[in-house]
Amino acid sequence: MTQGAEDVIRWLDTLGSDDIGAVGGKGASLGEMTSAGLPVPPGFTVTADSYRRFIEETEIADELFEAVDVDPDDSAELARAESEAERLILDTEMPAEMRESILDAYADLDDGEAFVAVRSSATAEDLPDFSFAGQQETFLNVQGETLVERVKECWASLFTQRAIHYRNEQGFDGESVDIAVVVQRMVDAEKSGVLFTSHPSTGEPKLIIEAAWGLGEAVVSGSVSPDNYVIERETGELLDHTVADKKHLMEKDPETGETIERAVSEEKRTAPVLESDEIDRLVELGTRAERHYDGPQDVEWALVDGEVFMLQSRPITTIDDDADVRDTASQTDENDVLARGHGASPGVVAGPVRIIRKLDQLDKVSEGDVIVTEETTPDMVPAMKRAAGIVTDEGGMTSHAAIVSRELGVPAVVGTSDATERLSDDQPVTIDGDKGTVTAGDVEPTEAEREEHADVRPQNPVKPMTATEVKVNVSIPEAAHRAAQTGADGVGLLRMEHMILSTNKTPERYIADHGEEAYIEEIVEGVRGVADEFYPRPVRVRTLDAPTDEFRQLEGGDDEPHEHNPMLGYRGIRRSLDRPETFAHEIEAFSRLFEMGYDNVEIMFPLVNDGEDVRRARELLEASGIDLDKRSWGVMVETPAAALTIEAMCEVGIDFASFGTNDLTQYTLAVDRNNENVAGRFDELHPAVLSLIGDVIETCRTHDVATSICGQAGSKPEMARFLVNEGVSSISANIDAVRDVQHEVKRVEQKLLLDTVR
Ligand code: PEP
Ligand code: MG
Repeated sequence: MTQGAEDVIRWLDTLGSDDIGAVGGKGASLGEMTSAGLPVPPGFTVTADSYRRFIEETEIADELFEAVDVDPDDSAELARAESEAERLILDTEMPAEMRESILDAYADLDDGEAFVAVRSSATAEDLPDFSFAGQQETFLNVQGETLVERVKECWASLFTQRAIHYRNEQGFDGESVDIAVVVQRMVDAEKSGVLFTSHPSTGEPKLIIEAAWGLGEAVVSGSVSPDNYVIERETGELLDHTVADKKHLMEKDPETGETIERAVSEEKRTAPVLESDEIDRLVELGTRAERHYDGPQDVEWALVDGEVFMLQSRPITTIDDDADVRDTASQTDENDVLARGHGASPGVVAGPVRIIRKLDQLDKVSEGDVIVTEETTPDMVPAMKRAAGIVTDEGGMTSHAAIVSRELGVPAVVGTSDATERLSDDQPVTIDGDKGTVTAGDVEPTEAEREEHADVRPQNPVKPMTATEVKVNVSIPEAAHRAAQTGADGVGLLRMEHMILSTNKTPERYIADHGEEAYIEEIVEGVRGVADEFYPRPVRVRTLDAPTDEFRQLEGGDDEPHEHNPMLGYRGIRRSLDRPETFAHEIEAFSRLFEMGYDNVEIMFPLVNDGEDVRRARELLEASGIDLDKRSWGVMVETPAAALTIEAMCEVGIDFASFGTNDLTQYTLAVDRNNENVAGRFDELHPAVLSLIGDVIETCRTHDVATSICGQAGSKPEMARFLVNEGVSSISANIDAVRDVQHEVKRVEQKLLLDTVR
């Protein structure tokens, strides 16, 4: 049987949303947009039928399906299946008339010279919409006859390890999925980004535009923080905009045609990407798209020579009907700013200042006061709970004050340098935990504001379903209820030290005063409170990790070793392995919890450096009779050494590795996480940190070891984007960030899925 050109290819302007079966979701969607008169770069699709006929006419179908029928949990078999499928498809010649039809269409596109984007577009019927089947291929800047090879590579991408694994998990075999390919003229974008026609979380009638220099890949992959514009839909008024530091961009190499990354020139790095007439055009385009599809859209756009192109439009499915629509950014008059630091816990509150200089002053903090202190310590937690807000001189986004205030839902501004000097007792102030400002004024919080901070944000009963688990960090057991309300998939980090430090005694002093039994029970009860709240969702409990300077402020602190640099000192697993008698009590607490039936409790070791640390920790667990075949245990990856020796740790038998990016960043960049002078250099998205993380994920995947993040950076959308694209198993975020991270993860997964099925 021979094929006509029309069977092999279909032009975008002949397609509509009903053509998914023929050209996949991506092809059909671009066809629909083109037919609706939206400015889509011209192109055509190689139909799904062509792929089917290719494997049948060349008689490779049986061999192909046999090769990919493997145990999806056996990574060696999966790897073999992928390379066998790739070999079969790439080494088999495409029937001549099919090849000709594709190249003829390409010649019609732009005199046969065009650079085109080639993307796979799998037919969607067989894939449940809440899962994602891994990445399929996209090739940019393809020119000439290599197009044919690229089309075949798109076909082969149906059989990557990840795609086979996901299909298998969803109960589909390789035979039931077809794949089309979209070929579209490249737009050499000078500027590009994403446009939400309504707020992606709250559904408010506000357009959000993200924009960066160069091709859109940098924005979509999360490798660049874009500028952000918020526009009132009704009036077109620009409500807010943030200009990001856009360190690099992606563009076409004029020599090779390849997509390359390069540094952005100094003057453009912090210059706004969009002119006001460009914003107007994007708003107009977004409004047309929303009208055409009759609902909020997430649009990918590109701008070249003043012309806007729309590269993709899809419905926003992340809008939370019950979302909190309060705009927390107060209208701050710059003249009134008394102190400025980092907005560490969101929300705007007002109250009288309480300067806390010594611990014995904690009693003077009453309900509704604003605590102003050099830095917070664990025994301040009861007072922090009473406070309306918290302001510190010292500390960054990962400081104790920042972590605990976020968990308590108390707005906080940290690292102001001198708030304790500038402010005075009883002075009425308003603090903005988003902007990081403390302003003069006794603006009473409204009832709504009080309510908001009394409880967690309203939760959507239908939380977004994500394939990547989104968990929550809990440092203080008191926050467990609030944490569970987020609908998180478990606790990614429960810090044990807060249970002990809040007793105001070092472990050794507590044991000396109250006995071993009381110490063990303190831990059991602390963990139980959280494990109950989350059961059967898993709760990852980290063994003790506090630097000696934190212990020093407690009773018994005088007995702690004096260290020149506690961050590089006697903490985490180092201390535990060095003091096995005290560590044994923590392990005993785990044994008791397991005996009590808390099979959702997992054990995590902090600050391990290599396989030897892990082996020694494992031996102590086994010596206590804990059956590691039944329990989930793992490590934190917090030092470059740990990242670089992850393979050895996997070989010791860990079930998971979790990135402690607070420490991993400080140790990789040699930037003290609590030092204000270098706070501007603390960058969890630094390429060196991301490179370590990416490599660890890859190694862990080959060893079937789950990966996660439990450092502060897990709450950042850019990091979530990076991690999901890298294939992380779970992300653990701060309580107040869980909802946003869930939406962000969903968005990235949908993007991956749509890249697969469109
Ligand atoms: C980390 O280092 O990222 C982490 C989660 O541990 P901590 O902040 O307690 O050091
Ligand atoms: Mg750490």
